[in-house]
Amino acid sequence: PQDDSEVDGLIIKAESAMQQVKESGKNHFLFYERTMSDKTHRQLAIKNAILFGLQQGEFYFVLQPQATIHDKKIVGVELLLRWQSASLGRVSPAEFIPVAERFGLIKEIDHWVMENAFKIVKQWRLDKMPDLTFAINLSAALYEDKELINILSNHLERYAVPSNMIELELTEGMALYNPDAALKTIDALKELGCCLALDDFGTGYSSMSYLQKFNLDKIKIDKSFVDNLQGGSKRQQAIVKSIIDMANTLGMRSIAEGVETQLQWQLLAQLGCDEVQGYFFSKPVSVTEFYNLVSQSQMNNEK
Ligand code: C2E
Ligand code: CA
Ligand code: CA
Repeated sequence: PQDDSEVDGLIIKAESAMQQVKESGKNHFLFYERTMSDKTHRQLAIKNAILFGLQQGEFYFVLQPQATIHDKKIVGVELLLRWQSASLGRVSPAEFIPVAERFGLIKEIDHWVMENAFKIVKQWRLDKMPDLTFAINLSAALYEDKELINILSNHLERYAVPSNMIELELTEGMALYNPDAALKTIDALKELGCCLALDDFGTGYSSMSYLQKFNLDKIKIDKSFVDNLQGGSKRQQAIVKSIIDMANTLGMRSIAEGVETQLQWQLLAQLGCDEVQGYFFSKPVSVTEFYNLVSQSQMNNEK
């Protein structure tokens, strides 16, 4: 009773507590706390600002290069979404993507991501820049939807982009609700000629069964494993090595993400990893900076 004097207010607060329970794995109870309302308010504010933001051009990409581990050649790039909201300031994708998913706005974001990624690749080709793979992140739900294939094949044609320049970063969550539909989508994506990478590898649940079923090109070793390498533990190194070896045996490439130090880079090279991405090589940068980075790297390679 000390939380509110009105019934409506009490119900809203009870719902905030319930929401919190749902988010932390259900089957539990929690008493309402003030911070829960703050969180609900923040999520509602984000939800209300997303569509406006998409229409007003508040979203943009930053690009993070992916390089070969031995000769540091840039062979790919991941497009990461950014949002500078007029009302909320900078909001991280780690915060607004889950909100968009929860409130049914993720499709709008996915569509924006696909369309604008293709625009960048098209311009890249018009500017006669070297061929790279452009990796994009789409929501897991989209992989259970036939629409994804239609949109992608439309874009490939409309923007005249070769399909092997487009890489999709999948997560294990994509096959959570409807594995059969996800499997069909993966096959259709391969048919189109797109590259497929499994993101955040090692953090999910049934990794092995996915690897068996899905025809993937690349495994992205999650940052948490890369972080653990630093301590010099043989055990941690053995885990990373087995991921790399498994990728090799299955004919896939391995890329380590979140590589921040030279030591991590060296260890990964010793363990046989193919590619790296992370602050040590480059933080995510603007499109213009990325053009400069690639031109610079080309000049260095020619020297
Ligand atoms: P992710 O796909 O695993 O992306 C990697 C995240 O690690 C990015 O954070 C990137 O900026 C960050 N990162 C890269 N190198 C380093 C490093 O060396 N050290 C550290 N500490 N971090 C590094 P970001 O851009 O904030 O994205 C967070 C997550 O948001 C992404 O995780 C992805 O799940 C999601 N996301 C980003 N862009 C999109 C998008 O266009 N669509 C969808 N659906 N999700 C996106
Ligand atoms: Ca990713
Ligand atoms: Ca990742």
